[in-house]
Amino acid sequence: MKTRFLIVFMGGVATTFLFLSLMGGGGTVQSPTGTAPDRYVYYPGTEELAKDEIRLIACGTGLPSARRDQAATCWLAELGNGDKFLFDVGTGSMANVAALMIPYDFLDKVFLTHLHTDHWGDLAALWAGGWTAGRTKPLRVWGPAGETPEMGTAYAIEHFLKAYNWDAVTRNFVLSADPGKISVIEFDYKAINAVVYQENGVTIRSIPAIHAGDGPVSFILEYAGLKVVIGGDTFPNKWFIEYATGADIAIHETFLTPSDLVKFYGQSPGQAIAVGTQIHTSPPAFGKVMSTIKPRHAIGYHFFNEQSTHDHILQGVRSTYSGPLSLAVDDMVWNITKDRIVERMIVSPDQAWGVNGPNKPPAPPAPGSVPNPISDFIKAGRWQPAEEAQAAMVDKFKKDNNLN
Ligand SMILES: [Zn+2]
Ligand SMILES: [Zn+2]
Repeated sequence: MKTRFLIVFMGGVATTFLFLSLMGGGGTVQSPTGTAPDRYVYYPGTEELAKDEIRLIACGTGLPSARRDQAATCWLAELGNGDKFLFDVGTGSMANVAALMIPYDFLDKVFLTHLHTDHWGDLAALWAGGWTAGRTKPLRVWGPAGETPEMGTAYAIEHFLKAYNWDAVTRNFVLSADPGKISVIEFDYKAINAVVYQENGVTIRSIPAIHAGDGPVSFILEYAGLKVVIGGDTFPNKWFIEYATGADIAIHETFLTPSDLVKFYGQSPGQAIAVGTQIHTSPPAFGKVMSTIKPRHAIGYHFFNEQSTHDHILQGVRSTYSGPLSLAVDDMVWNITKDRIVERMIVSPDQAWGVNGPNKPPAPPAPGSVPNPISDFIKAGRWQPAEEAQAAMVDKFKKDNNLN
C-alpha cells in the first residue's frame, strides 16, 4: 500500500465540488461502527466502469533499472465496453498489474511502443504468469516492424519464445499449450496515424517516435469519443504535435534533468545531455509539447519520481506549460469521461492472487500425448522417505476430491 499526495485537476463545477469535498478530508464519519465515506482512492475491482468511460492505470512509470517503488513503463487502459489493453509491459510492472487482481484472460492484448527492456521486459511474467494463473487463450502482441526484420517485434517474440523453450516444454506437459502461444501483429513504424487495431468500437493508431534508433512508435487510442495518446520514448516530434492535438489525455515522457542524471544516475555530463535532451524529452520540452497540443490533461512519466527529482521536473515543465498535469508514479489511476477526469491513487494488496475469469481453462494434454520432460534417470532419484512423509496428506486430499 502506498500513500502519496494527489493533485487533481478538473474543470468547472466539478473542480468546485471536489475542492469542497477535499476540505472534508474524506468526509464526516457519522458512526464509530458504520462505513466511511469516500476515501479518494481506488480499490480495484470495486467500481463498475460506465459504457462511455476509460480507466487508465499507471502500472510502471520509471526507468530500466526498475526499483521497488517504480517499475518500468506499463499503462493499462480499461474501457467501458470490457476491452483492456496493456501498452508496454516494462520490467517489474507485472507485480503492479497483478495487484489489480484482473483475470489474466482479460489481459491478452499488449501493444509495444518499442523493444527496450523497460518497455517489454516483463512480457515473460505476463506470458508464463498468466498461463499458470488462468489465461485460457494465446497472448496477442502488436508492435512495430524494424528497419530490418531482426529489429522488429515479430523477430523479438519468435526469439523470446525460443529463449523460454525449456519453460514452455515443461509446462506443455501439464498445461494446455494454447495459452502459451503468442501471436504477433507487426506494423510499419513509419506509418503515420495508421490504424493498427479496430474492433468493437475501439481504434488504435500508430505514429513514429524519435528515440535511440528506428522503430519506436506512440499509440493513439480512440473510444466513445475519447482520445488517449500513449507516448513511447521519444524526442518531441511533429507527428505527436499533429495527431495528439485535441487529446483528452496525452501521456508523454519527460526525462530527468541532465543535472539529476549526473547526480543520481552517475552519468557523465556529456552522456546526460545526450540522453536527457536528444533521445528523450526534457521537462521544458515536454511543457512546450503540452502547451502546443493543449490536452484536457497531460501526464508526464519515465523518471524516478521522488522528492529530490520531482521539483526539478515540475519547474522545467511549468516554465513552458501551465495546464492540467500529472507527474505519474506507479498506481495512479484516472477515470476519464466527456465530463470529467478524476485522478486518484490505487490501494491494492501486496499479496495478490490470480483470479479466474468466466472462461473454462482448456483441458491439459491427454496422458501420453506429450512426452514427459523428466527422464527415468531423474525419476529414479526420488527420495522415498519424502513420499512416505506426505502419504497421509496425499491420501486424504485424493479421497476428499474423488481422485484416483
Ligand atoms: Zn527506450
Ligand atoms: Zn524507456
